[in-house]
Amino acid sequence: MSSIATPLMPIAGHADPVVQPRDVAPRADGRIDLIGMTRGEIQAALTAKGLDTKAAKLRAKQLWHWIYHRGVSDFAVMSDIAKVMRPWLAEHFIIARPHIVTAQQSSDGTRKWLLSTDDGHEYEMVFIPDAARGTLCISSQVGCTLNCRFCHTGTMRLVRNLTAGEIVGQVMLARDALGEWPKGNMATSAEDDDAADDDVGHYSADGRLLTNIVLMGMGEPLYNFDNVKNAMQIVMDGDGLALSKRRITLSTSGVVPMMARAGAEIGVNLAVSLHAVTKEIRDEIVPINRKYDLTSLLEACAAYPGANNARRITFEYVMLKDKNDSDDDARELVRLLRQYRLPAKVNLIPFNPWPGAPYACSDDARIRRFSDIVFEGGISAPVRTPRGRDIMAACGQLKSAAKKLSRAELDRLAEEKQAML
Ligand code: SAH
Ligand code: SF4
Repeated sequence: MSSIATPLMPIAGHADPVVQPRDVAPRADGRIDLIGMTRGEIQAALTAKGLDTKAAKLRAKQLWHWIYHRGVSDFAVMSDIAKVMRPWLAEHFIIARPHIVTAQQSSDGTRKWLLSTDDGHEYEMVFIPDAARGTLCISSQVGCTLNCRFCHTGTMRLVRNLTAGEIVGQVMLARDALGEWPKGNMATSAEDDDAADDDVGHYSADGRLLTNIVLMGMGEPLYNFDNVKNAMQIVMDGDGLALSKRRITLSTSGVVPMMARAGAEIGVNLAVSLHAVTKEIRDEIVPINRKYDLTSLLEACAAYPGANNARRITFEYVMLKDKNDSDDDARELVRLLRQYRLPAKVNLIPFNPWPGAPYACSDDARIRRFSDIVFEGGISAPVRTPRGRDIMAACGQLKSAAKKLSRAELDRLAEEKQAML
């Protein structure tokens, strides 16, 4: 992007890795973007522009439906809003989408979009179709303040939290791209002043391509809790995007103090980036372990609200050659998951390489052996097939167009970030 209006937070030198989000710069045209606001916030924004409470409440409800249930971004087609009010709305407000910088498609059908915020920061989202479902992998931050040693996103130097609108905007953009908003009488409705919207209810989940959402793109979602929560509430709202919480998974590297709140207030499925079973190795590859150790992490998992045998916690385990992939590691993994009585499944993720990465992927035979040991311990441990590697869309490969760092710079950055923990 040519110009960046909001300064990002430089990571080096900050004492605490918890992101201090910058306020997003107001839009240059002075209009307010409604995407990401709660119903109450939309109502308050309408009141602030002069509507009385009753009118604002009604219009907020109608806007919500058009924006989130119908995917409309043009006030002119909102047929149940008085014709004279539509230009007034357009003058003060906007229903924006993230800007698409590039869109790529992998030979395996995986799609990756490089997106830009209105103030010029880049982040990525990935759509992974397979026979049974279509999963959208969304980002929660520009970059990541953490620095897991095997993750490309962790090498990004600059971070800003994405707003709720920028998070939910990814889902809306994906529905635009996949053509998955309900078809209705929108084409003709503009003529039909104040007409009732008789098309409500035509929307069904059947046959949709986008069925699941994972918060596994760029960033640590539990370091951007409020925005992630507001965005997911819109995604789950019955008159919003209407996706079940059972089809949404939040992945954390282990922000232990926020896990109970995530379960209670967001309520989606939990995935935990475990990746190692000893303090020594986890401290090295997932440095947040120095702050919140394995014991406190596994205790928080055991207490996660809503986890049970029907809704198990996913433990992600990246397979790094000669680092965390021995038979002993596999046996220790089983022992730990049993010790804490966790309703668990393990996802074994072959390491996805990126330029300058300090690790290699374990051999296929090693990964199979590891998987067998965990299976024999009574825990499901499928090996995940990497998707979209050819377009750098696989787990941990996302980095957007940020400046490429040399090996020496990567090591220094890792040290700086680890010093903050
Ligand atoms: N920040 C969150 C969510 C994003 S990462 C978290 O760490 O959980 C999604 C998953 O991909 C995490 O389990 C992450 O550890 C894993 N991952 C990161 N880099 C990877 C790589 N190069 N190869 C394979 N998996 C990777
Ligand atoms: Fe951040 Fe997750 Fe990557 Fe770790 S694995 S650096 S927490 S995005």
